[in-house]
Amino acid sequence: MSEPSNMALTTGDRKSTPWQCTSGTGLVVIALALMALATTRAEITGAIWMWATLGMLITGSVLYAYGTFVVKQVGEPNNGTWFAPLTSRGTWAWVFGAMLTLFYVLLYWYPEMLGLGEQTNTGLVALFDPLAMLFHGSGAKASQWFMYGTLYTVLILTLGIRFIFKYRRNRYQVIRTIVLMAAQTCLAYLVPEILEGLQDGKAYFAKDIKYFWPLNYYFFEDWHLDAMRQGGTLGMVCLVWGIIGFALLTPVLTYFLGKRWYCSWICGCGGLAETAGDSFRHLSSKSIRAWKLERWLIHGVLVYIVVVTAVVLYGYFSGSGSIAGVDIYTWFRRPYGFLIGSMFSGVIGVGFYPLLGSRVWCRFGCPMAAYMGLFQRRLSKYRITVNSGQCISCGQCSTYCEQGIDVRWYAMRGQDVVRASCVGCGICSTVCPRGVLKLENGPMETLQREART
Ligand code: SF4
Ligand code: SF4
Repeated sequence: MSEPSNMALTTGDRKSTPWQCTSGTGLVVIALALMALATTRAEITGAIWMWATLGMLITGSVLYAYGTFVVKQVGEPNNGTWFAPLTSRGTWAWVFGAMLTLFYVLLYWYPEMLGLGEQTNTGLVALFDPLAMLFHGSGAKASQWFMYGTLYTVLILTLGIRFIFKYRRNRYQVIRTIVLMAAQTCLAYLVPEILEGLQDGKAYFAKDIKYFWPLNYYFFEDWHLDAMRQGGTLGMVCLVWGIIGFALLTPVLTYFLGKRWYCSWICGCGGLAETAGDSFRHLSSKSIRAWKLERWLIHGVLVYIVVVTAVVLYGYFSGSGSIAGVDIYTWFRRPYGFLIGSMFSGVIGVGFYPLLGSRVWCRFGCPMAAYMGLFQRRLSKYRITVNSGQCISCGQCSTYCEQGIDVRWYAMRGQDVVRASCVGCGICSTVCPRGVLKLENGPMETLQREART
């Protein structure tokens, strides 16, 4: 007699857990325990501990992802998302969110609690000293930002591999993720660290070269402008590149490709959201209220940075520290850095991944996204085209849109999706079971602009 088939909708898979998942989990747990121990015990420092910790973190994550998405391979990659406490705002999501938020608070305002010292480091920061010496010579020590940059890059790399395993049948997702990983590793991590090493003690300006104003809010601040001026040819190249980047490159590329060239292919914030935040993308609110809030907030931040930058430049060229009797640092630079640069983009932007979704910053706060969105909505060839005859209204596209766009609404009406907030991640198209959606760059004349305003 044949076995009765399992008709349950919610039980998930019944295959046993592959050894890759169990051993991967074990390695990640040990690596995290070592990092936690490093914050309290001075003995966990030195190259061996650092490479052992990073090695276990990377190997464990990749093994786990391989076991889950390649060996186990149960149904759609997003099976069970709404039933796991970590990805459905359950207890684990709150615990994880609280831990992430705490980490960012320590990183920004209490780095000494992570081990940053005046003369020598201890704790978690000291764990990364050997790597800092590799880049900057034997006397160097890690800063909290070096530690953060290293962990950030490792996360994008390992969870990028996970993303590739998960969406490996889709060429757009695979190529996009490889570019994201390479951009983070080379342009945001290796090149700036090597350039900084070559600066030989001069003021630091050789930052991530794809980090354009207005996302890079300190680009026009006096210390940064001075550092570039004193930085010789390299400094001048950085200054000119930075200006070309926001004034020419950004509008032109957004016209041809939409904002996806930046948000989904090279930006570090977008890179983290796409890879580390992939499990939380469905948590973005699709309500009209959230959409209204998004438009006010993101354009508000854009106006805010334009005003702050204008005032800062006035101070720089006039040689004055105040404008109309108001201190520029106290009332303009510092509040923006605190409210937007630290609180919004870091603490809320990443700390709240497990509760609000992975693109909170990109959707509600990023001034670069707002700037590109102005072109994308009115003057860009990019759109998502719809083959409405095939739409079965399943809602997968809307569910997994990290920017909270109700893609199904457009699909059911046969209307192209042209939204300022779309980052062109392509996940709506990837998860659509009927191949209804296609990301395209087409002639402006045939573009159906958004009807819902
Ligand atoms: S919205 Fe901003 S932070 Fe997010 S990916 Fe785009 S440019 Fe980067
Ligand atoms: S509409 Fe599609 S491509 Fe655009 S952000 Fe949403 S899921 Fe990504």
